[in-house]
Amino acid sequence: MALRKYGLIGLPLEHSFSRLYFTEKFSAESINAEYNLYPLEHIDDLIQLVRKEKNLCGLNVTIPYKEAIFPFLDELSPEARAIGAVNTVSIRKNKASYCLTGWNTDAPAFESEIQNFTEKLKGNALILGNGGAAKAAVYILNKLGWNVKQLVRNLEKIKITSSESNSGRENFIAYDQADQKLFQANDLIVNATPVGMSPEITGLPPIPVEYLTEKHLIFDMIYNPETTRLIQSGIDCGAKTRNGYGMLKKQADLAWKIWQMDFSNQVK
Ligand code: NAP
Repeated sequence: MALRKYGLIGLPLEHSFSRLYFTEKFSAESINAEYNLYPLEHIDDLIQLVRKEKNLCGLNVTIPYKEAIFPFLDELSPEARAIGAVNTVSIRKNKASYCLTGWNTDAPAFESEIQNFTEKLKGNALILGNGGAAKAAVYILNKLGWNVKQLVRNLEKIKITSSESNSGRENFIAYDQADQKLFQANDLIVNATPVGMSPEITGLPPIPVEYLTEKHLIFDMIYNPETTRLIQSGIDCGAKTRNGYGMLKKQADLAWKIWQMDFSNQVK
């Protein structure tokens, strides 16, 4: 059996958890596979990568390509289609042709983490950002019965599409319009921006942290550093906090399940 190849596309990729995680897994479980980093200058370079890497069976997708990858995919899972973002791709090759399927494992990973973190509560939630991870969070929180609003830095950039899970412009608020009343009305705050992520660890999402209280639940999708400035602000005022490490591990395990399922179907 030929060596199977997997990898991560995005830019930049210096701080990848996935390579270490999958390399250790392949070694511990004696799986004949390797995991590489494929920094792509442009998403168009994906075509050349798939053609060149003959044994490439799957990819993880990170910033900034979770949405830009859509035109290059042959199939989409229903969840990835509904969310409008893909973080996992499975690749089936047959002689000269190939089929790329897009999946979203951020969503089920977030669902599992948030259910555990909030102890299955529901209420009002504020999501910071509107990128791929934010869209997955909105989709899941809506599904779980939360009322969701999103804080964004540029209201003009928001495109409302029929598939947008948080449909309606009234659900988007500019950061400079976020007042104390808004924070009093929302229990759960989810950071789905990279602000505060290593190496820029001094970054703090542009929210008035003085409005955070012990009744808030603060979930930061960032996993490096473990304690971001946002998490520290939550801790300082007695709020319950969680970082993105558990979600990260879960989305990787779910990606592996998809790749394994695809691989088993091909060798049958
Ligand atoms: P993305 O698609 O590039 O979206 C990033 C979002 O952050 C955009 O809405 C962007 O706003 C906003 N943003 C960027 N810089 C900002 C700033 N200085 N101030 C305010 N907003 C800013 O990225 P993503 O894939 O959604 O990932 C977002 C974060 O979540 C990253 O830190 C990533 O590592 C983390 N994440 C973690 C997990 C996990 O498993 N723990 C999974 C997925 C993502 P604009 O639209 O205005 O540019």
